[in-house]
Amino acid sequence: MFCVEREKLDRYYWLVDELNRHGRLYYVLDAPEIEDDEYDALMREMLQFEREHPDLIRDDSPSKRVGGAVLDAFEKVTHAKPMLSLEDVFSKNELHDWLQRAAEGVGQPWIPWCCELKIDGLAVSLIFEDGKFVQASTRGDGVVGEDVTENLKTVKDLPLRLLGDVPGHLELRGEVYMGKDGFAQLNAAREEAGLPLFANPRNAAAGSLRQLDTSVAAKRNLRLFTYYVQDAESYGLHSQSEILEWLKARGLPVQKAWRRAETETEALDFLERWSGERFSLPYATDGAVFKADATEYWTVLGNNVKTPRWAVAYKYPPEERKTKLESIEISL
Ligand code: NAD
Repeated sequence: MFCVEREKLDRYYWLVDELNRHGRLYYVLDAPEIEDDEYDALMREMLQFEREHPDLIRDDSPSKRVGGAVLDAFEKVTHAKPMLSLEDVFSKNELHDWLQRAAEGVGQPWIPWCCELKIDGLAVSLIFEDGKFVQASTRGDGVVGEDVTENLKTVKDLPLRLLGDVPGHLELRGEVYMGKDGFAQLNAAREEAGLPLFANPRNAAAGSLRQLDTSVAAKRNLRLFTYYVQDAESYGLHSQSEILEWLKARGLPVQKAWRRAETETEALDFLERWSGERFSLPYATDGAVFKADATEYWTVLGNNVKTPRWAVAYKYPPEERKTKLESIEISL
């Protein structure tokens, strides 16, 4: 018995070390060695052990941390509120159970969800003072990020001044990404120059945003989508759908692929529709995000250590993600 436990424990220690190593390669160095679905499989195995043995969880487990370390080369920014990740589900059954549990958590049989595509980029926090863009930072380890203000200014989608009525101090969050064309061009140029290729558009975007030389970032053609307003309720916004409309009306880029789903069938329709159509979009997506539409539920449901309990990411199956990579290769 002891031997079996010992073996399991050794495996758990190996998983923590291995996931931390891959996390550093991915988040800090923007140079992953393994595919995301391989990483996800190791993570799920580790989480299973931690669920069964909560007393043995290591302090440095990746289940306790968001993202990776912050590079010293950049000024550090402490986020006013932590920037979290999202819990993943990998099947429609898991999604059903997750959404159902969240509804039960607010004492309802079902609640409306705002469905969005998951953009394969990296999260940024954007600060505006009196409508003027003043600061951008990466998620970093969730608490402290890197100041990438100057590089964000090279992103053409970002309005440096917002339209309409805006609060004095405003924090938004969104995703910086590289379009499929930009990614193909960048890798083609790197291949010609004999430089290592970026594994995917997300790593290319992250590597480009974290360039100390802004003229390099400027050439990378980074793009932006916004999807979150900090303290939205204090601006009279009471649903994620309203938030997306509000951002758009302020001149901010918001992706078109979203809908409010009143029923589970509508939520699944969104998933079905975009599982195929997303390949024709000019940017890469690796899943769909479901957010409780009413912000009052965000407060009731609250957050786990690294993920909110009011939003979840459905990851498209690996074979579909492979098809996505192939379609990028074809356009190279
Ligand atoms: P995540 O990418 O799975 O999900 C959370 C992020 O989704 C948010 O932080 C936000 O940036 C983003 N997002 C995109 N569209 C969004 C939308 N519409 N609304 C809200 N958020 C949206 O979480 P993560 O912690 O950034 O990274 C985990 C992922 O990174 C996993 O998929 C994992 O496979 C991959 N990873 C891979 C390796 C590797 O070695 N291949 C290593 C570490 C992590």
